[in-house]
Amino acid sequence: MTSLLDGLNPQQREAVTAGTGPVLVLAGPGSGKTRVLTHRIAYLVGEMGAYPGGILAVTFTNKAAGEMRERIESLLGGRLGGLQIGTFHAICARLLRKEAPFTRLRADYLIYDTDDQLAAVTQAITELNVDVKKYRPRQLLNAISAAKNELITPAEYQAPGYVGEITRRVYERYQELLVNSNARDFDDLLLDAVLLLQTNDELRQKYQRHFEHLLVDEFQDTNTAQYRLVQILGNYHRNVFVVGDEDQAIYGFRGADYRNVLQFRHDFPDARVILLEQNYRSTQIVLDAARAVIDQNPNRTPKALFTERGGGPRVTIYEAYSEVDEAEYVIERIVELRRQDGLSWGDMAIMYRTNAQSRALEEACIRRKVPYRLVGGVGFYTRREIRDLLAYLRLVHNPDDAVSFSRIINVPKRGIGKKSLEDFRRWAAANRLTISQALAALADGVASSLAGAAARKFVEFWQMLTNWRALAAQGDLIALLEDILTQTGYSLHLHETSDTEQEALERQENVKELLALVENDRQRPLADFLESVALVADVDSLAGSAEDAVTLLTLHSAKGLEFPVVFITGLEEGLLPHFRAFDEQDGMAEECRLLYVGMTRAMQRLYLTYAFRRMTYGDSSPGMPSRFLRPIPAQLLEGASALLANQRAAHRYQQDTTWDDAPLTQPESPVRRAIRSQIAPFGGAPALRYKAGVRVFHGKFGEGIVLESRRSGEDEEVTVSFREGGIKRLTASFANLVILED
Ligand code: ATP
Ligand code: MG
Repeated sequence: MTSLLDGLNPQQREAVTAGTGPVLVLAGPGSGKTRVLTHRIAYLVGEMGAYPGGILAVTFTNKAAGEMRERIESLLGGRLGGLQIGTFHAICARLLRKEAPFTRLRADYLIYDTDDQLAAVTQAITELNVDVKKYRPRQLLNAISAAKNELITPAEYQAPGYVGEITRRVYERYQELLVNSNARDFDDLLLDAVLLLQTNDELRQKYQRHFEHLLVDEFQDTNTAQYRLVQILGNYHRNVFVVGDEDQAIYGFRGADYRNVLQFRHDFPDARVILLEQNYRSTQIVLDAARAVIDQNPNRTPKALFTERGGGPRVTIYEAYSEVDEAEYVIERIVELRRQDGLSWGDMAIMYRTNAQSRALEEACIRRKVPYRLVGGVGFYTRREIRDLLAYLRLVHNPDDAVSFSRIINVPKRGIGKKSLEDFRRWAAANRLTISQALAALADGVASSLAGAAARKFVEFWQMLTNWRALAAQGDLIALLEDILTQTGYSLHLHETSDTEQEALERQENVKELLALVENDRQRPLADFLESVALVADVDSLAGSAEDAVTLLTLHSAKGLEFPVVFITGLEEGLLPHFRAFDEQDGMAEECRLLYVGMTRAMQRLYLTYAFRRMTYGDSSPGMPSRFLRPIPAQLLEGASALLANQRAAHRYQQDTTWDDAPLTQPESPVRRAIRSQIAPFGGAPALRYKAGVRVFHGKFGEGIVLESRRSGEDEEVTVSFREGGIKRLTASFANLVILED
């Protein structure tokens, strides 16, 4: 079985072949932690004779779970029945379904996503007569989520003051609404699983004995609920194998706490601690630059990390004029890298701090016809029409699902307005009827407070729903979905509610895609289908797409991944570090780790860009380079010096001329000055005629200032900001620019 240990260095082998008992692998990015975990599972089965069904492995995404399973099966040369790999959420979801009789919900419970949650919390707020303007649903939801991740139930919830009391009440009501709809939100999956195991001795012992081996990847990002699960399940056999890197903890905002690593050492004092020191992913330059960034964080344990992947190209810094210029620069480089270096689109990734930043990048991709794949954002399952149809399916599955009911009771329009819906709700509540009971009662002719016409419409809806439930019972998902589409006249609705014919067609395409998706698996039980849909995470949209495309993703989604070329955009104060982090404890340190995670995804080339001006919320504000760039040693960097230098000149020029009263005139910050002083000048290239910052005159465009100039073959390509004509990119030999002396 030597092949299991092939391609592993001595420390990695030590971890893979460690005997039983707790093991903690702490190591930097790209050092093979995930690889070690994968080989460890194969080794447990192949060498130590472990029973696959008794192994539970936790990964950070469902996609990673799929890849890991494949890898293990290929190492062992066969399929592994029973082996459980998945995210904490997926594992808990399964457990709660299996043990439903011991929980407060039925096995066919639904999983609410953020939109459903917001709808439920808003309903709770309205019912409690709380002012929605003062207590925003999203904020309350965050507070509820934080409580759940700390394993605090509504009954235990205590927070000071009036706000705390409001939150407690909303939490309580919200939770009732979910239970009435036989639904759980994401946090409930963890919370309920932990509560179940804590309170039910028999079940706890069953699972503790069942899972002989427990393995966790990205351990630094576990929250309290997840940690408790590890603690409980691992407490009997104590074969808990966790790998992580405190410097890559980036989910603090969701309650993750890297101090769980300390807690682990406390709970498992006999744990064998293994350090891996060789990075196999990145070049020395990338690693050195990343280290300079992470070294800024106080209180971290420095880790040794070396690579044999020699120097490599320097990290390129680019200062863009605007987010549009930034996007153009990035896409241009990508096109060039593909043409010159033979890289494929899929070798390259563009990362950013917030989803909203993807728009300019997407537009540039479209302009340059560069295929791209967007991770997260408005994903397939969050599109309006898909959500509608899923709501139908969910209501068929569970006719008491209040959120789905509200979503589609009048979509497509069937004459049930807000008022009728309110009347219906009130009447049902007064008579203590669930949605389906109330509908059935109306259908049976029970007298209600509803107007006759309104009551009839609800009855018609109930009849459709009953037919669909019968169809669903026959087990053919496609037939069901097609019937829903026809009965509701959904295509007509698409056309009526789209702004343009083009939009209608696109939405129609989405519906077809859903049908195709269901077609693949048409005999699958509806419950299964809905669960798999609910558990799809952002990063999972990467799975299975064979198409060669550039990946656009947030830094948070980039965990665990690697790409030959990485662009990190928007490196500005307020964006990265994000302004929200400024007044949060550990906020700044977490932002720093986030950049560190991004940088260490790069195998060969790394680009860091920031824009001088960026439209945020329709407002263009001047950007300051991120403070995290400051400590990167100049000799690791290239580029941008022209722009940076010119900015100083532009700034001076501004003060002299004041032909634009944009807030450029604010005093130069020490940050900017420090960064500038550290950035290396271009090395070796012949001198350029039009230096950045120089004032020039053009026959047609008039007076302007050079923003950037770069060599382009024998010629020079000059970017000039004209006083009247805006920014133009010109070829020097044609442009006949006259340099104006100061
Ligand atoms: P991260 O902290 O970013 O999750 P990691 O520690 O999990 O990183 P891996 O993703 O497991 O690191 O490994 C990084 C890369 O190095 C992968 O491409 C992996 O295949 C490769 N690698 C790991 N160990 C070795 C080795 N001993 N020989 C060759 N390649 C290796
Ligand atoms: Mg990893």
